[in-house]
Amino acid sequence: MSKVLVIGCGGVAQVAIRKCAQRSEVFTEMCIASRTKSKCDALAEDLKGTTPMKITTARVDADKVDEVIALIRDCKPDLVMNIALPYQDLTIMDACLACGVNYMDTANYEPEDTDDPAWREIYEKRCREKGFSAYFDYSWQWAFRERFEKAGLIALLGCGFDPGVTQAYCAYAQKHEFDQIDTIDILDCNGGDHGYPFATNFNPEVNLREVSAPGSYIENGKWVEIPAMSIKREYDFDQVGRKDMYLLHHEELESLAENIPGVKRLRFFMTFGQSYLTHMKCLENVGMLSTTPVSFEGREIVPIKFLKALLPDPASLGPRTVGKTNIGCIFTGKKDGKEKTYYIYNVCDHQACYREVKSQAISYTTGVPAMCGAMMLLTGKWNTPGVHTVEEFDPDPFLEALDQNGLPRSENRAPVIVE
Ligand code: NDP
Repeated sequence: MSKVLVIGCGGVAQVAIRKCAQRSEVFTEMCIASRTKSKCDALAEDLKGTTPMKITTARVDADKVDEVIALIRDCKPDLVMNIALPYQDLTIMDACLACGVNYMDTANYEPEDTDDPAWREIYEKRCREKGFSAYFDYSWQWAFRERFEKAGLIALLGCGFDPGVTQAYCAYAQKHEFDQIDTIDILDCNGGDHGYPFATNFNPEVNLREVSAPGSYIENGKWVEIPAMSIKREYDFDQVGRKDMYLLHHEELESLAENIPGVKRLRFFMTFGQSYLTHMKCLENVGMLSTTPVSFEGREIVPIKFLKALLPDPASLGPRTVGKTNIGCIFTGKKDGKEKTYYIYNVCDHQACYREVKSQAISYTTGVPAMCGAMMLLTGKWNTPGVHTVEEFDPDPFLEALDQNGLPRSENRAPVIVE
């Protein structure tokens, strides 16, 4: 018997909500709240009669702590699932602390306004000290550690696929497969085709900011930053085939460097087709990826927000996307004195996702782990107070839940490495 408050009702949230509705023995009641209430109402209507889970809806601007506090007080949830945008992480965490309720999200904090001088000063100091220049990092949410611990509350950060499941794969490899992990390569392959010349699979603003940023990886405890898309490899993915993939900065590298003892190298690769890269480069070159407002015909517009309005809504890609995703981690290291490699991954089919929850596989592979993470917190399987990333918890019940709820793991102990 538990009640959750879900904030956000976009592509990922809609999958998480539909999957929670399938597990109504855990999720008995839910309030869906977002900026646009009509989306919450439409989903609640669509779920009517399909689940015993009791659903209510509300409108909230989660940028405003007071609004979130009032909503939590009204709804009295056991857990707040933040599946809005990374911009709202801190306000929702503040509200959870004020109300004494557990928190989780699917992406670490980044500011909406990267020109804000107060934020920029801290950001530039971090760039110098840490050596990577992505707009997002864990420091903002790790700053809540003591307050959550003292309050006896849990904040679970980044419980999607990557971040999220990839870290559970790392914890699993550490627990069962290795005495010492030397290298971790996270490989995120989307072999899907939506038929548009250019579209993003999740929120365009967050997605394009991520992939147009310089790449970086960790070697011997230090960040190495490289120009965007300047390290390319080809890999033959199970059930997808050969794809080009590029080294990107990714948030879980930062927490894994802290939580996997002795790891020497951590990298993240994502596949991109040539058409995507050409469009992105062109948009970047003409300034369309900028977050700095420009004046246009007497009003201010933010180029990347305008671009978002032009691009297909990721939630609309479901019916037209075919093909599969393959996301996982390749490890090298030692077990019982011998060198070994281990590869653990999930393959997910876009059309199978659409038939089940009316969504493509990118939202599916994020929404299902969010539901499973919530289940870990609500059933007390993960119960250590504080602010934690996924690899800090026991991976076994989480991976079992994923196996049973649509994202089964595959394993390969043959020598597979990325040069
Ligand atoms: P969408 O843009 O589809 O949905 C975002 C939702 O949040 C919308 O319903 C939006 O409302 C709502 N929202 C935005 N601002 C506010 C606000 N101020 N107050 C209340 N609600 C708000 O994004 P996605 O579903 O694609 O992504 C959701 C999250 O998942 C993001 O944080 C993204 O980074 C993360 N993600 C994580 C992945 C992982 O593997 N860990 C992979 C993919 C995504 P409105 O309808 O009004 O716009």
